Amino acid sequence: MTLDTLIHNATVVTMNAACGIIANGMVGVRNGSIEMVGAAPPQTPLPAASVLVDAGGGVVMPGLINAHTHLPMTLFRGLADDLPLHRWLQDIMFPAEAAHIDPDSARWGARLACAEMLLSGTTCCCDGYFHADSVAEAVKESGMRAVIAQGVIDFPAPGVPDPTMNVETAARFVDNWQDRCDRITPSIFCHAPYTCSAETMTTAKTAAGERGVLFQIHVSETEEEVRNSLEKNGARPVQYLNDLGVLDEQSLVVHGVWIDAAEIRTLARRRTAMAHCPSSNMKLGAGVAPVVPLREAGVVTGLGTDGSASNNTLDMFREMNTAAKLHKVHRHDPTAATAETVVAMATIEGARAIGLAEIIGPIEVGKRADLIVIDTAHPHLAPMYNPVSHAVYAMTGADVRHVMVDGHLVVRDKTLLSMDLEEIMDKVRWYGKRIGRDIAHHQKE
Ligand SMILES: [Zn+2]
Repeated sequence: MTLDTLIHNATVVTMNAACGIIANGMVGVRNGSIEMVGAAPPQTPLPAASVLVDAGGGVVMPGLINAHTHLPMTLFRGLADDLPLHRWLQDIMFPAEAAHIDPDSARWGARLACAEMLLSGTTCCCDGYFHADSVAEAVKESGMRAVIAQGVIDFPAPGVPDPTMNVETAARFVDNWQDRCDRITPSIFCHAPYTCSAETMTTAKTAAGERGVLFQIHVSETEEEVRNSLEKNGARPVQYLNDLGVLDEQSLVVHGVWIDAAEIRTLARRRTAMAHCPSSNMKLGAGVAPVVPLREAGVVTGLGTDGSASNNTLDMFREMNTAAKLHKVHRHDPTAATAETVVAMATIEGARAIGLAEIIGPIEVGKRADLIVIDTAHPHLAPMYNPVSHAVYAMTGADVRHVMVDGHLVVRDKTLLSMDLEEIMDKVRWYGKRIGRDIAHHQKE
């Protein structure tokens, strides 16, 4: 039967159980799914396909999965850097969000984020923010796949001026998006144990559980958070959440920088996954998450960039590079966080962490076709002994040439096909001028 698309003339990094890498490989796609993967036999015509994509001897690998984002925060990229988390949040981010995040700005910020992610090889992300309807609409239009959550916080927030409505608003978002688009999986995101009450978190977790969706929460990002939790709750944050009953296999904890051995055991026992955000943790001076012991304990660990204000890019190739090096320098051990481990975190483990492992992850028959093609005809990628090594230590998002999500090419020859990139950048620059003027005005006062 004729394939819809055949990508050929490629080194295929499958990330399947055998970690197979196929030289002179090809991937065939039909009805949005991967129909065949293998080596092209010499002297044999290629299988019939409606669209042929010649990878030009480049690398085909699974689309990268960004396990933690706040998409509209692209609007705040570079607005304020080099500040401690508390001041950065209280003095800059929360006021900027209150003044500038509305359904329209959230949509334009999310559109820019989707454009940036797709062009740099990310095909799926796991998001939590306000005005989640706008985020979901932007993701839908971009052609990306995502888990998207409405944020829950016990303060007035953009679109939720009355915090007593926070969980209800998040649950309504899930109900609205449960069956609306195959590429969008709704979720509920509590900001943190220090911005949500015990009751808010348990109600939110119950709402997520009843709907069978992922519950996300930032946990133990800073040492100060742990100190305050011990003082206020008599327990460290992960222990506190476990006592509340909000940790299970449909929960995702984000950051987990300051978690101890007992908390690692708790996460493993609860089968709760973690999203590791090394660049954000480094930039905010938060610390180093214990990723090596977490993975040894069997905690599924995905990799995330966090929002653009604390990273400041959404390039998962840069994030993989950072993750690999951070754990080596921290542990004085070059065998920590190997290239294979880090690519797994950005692909197959990310899929498990965000609850999508049944449909995406490795390049294997039956999975949805979320694939990227990397152009290796660059001096920084020659020679190539091992494409997995290059993915972590040499490639950047700018090397991505074609991107396919759910069987559709959304980037072809480094051009975004699904949205008008110039229009998006113009609009975001316009928002940037307003936000920048406003912050300068504040600082003068
Ligand atoms: Zn975050």
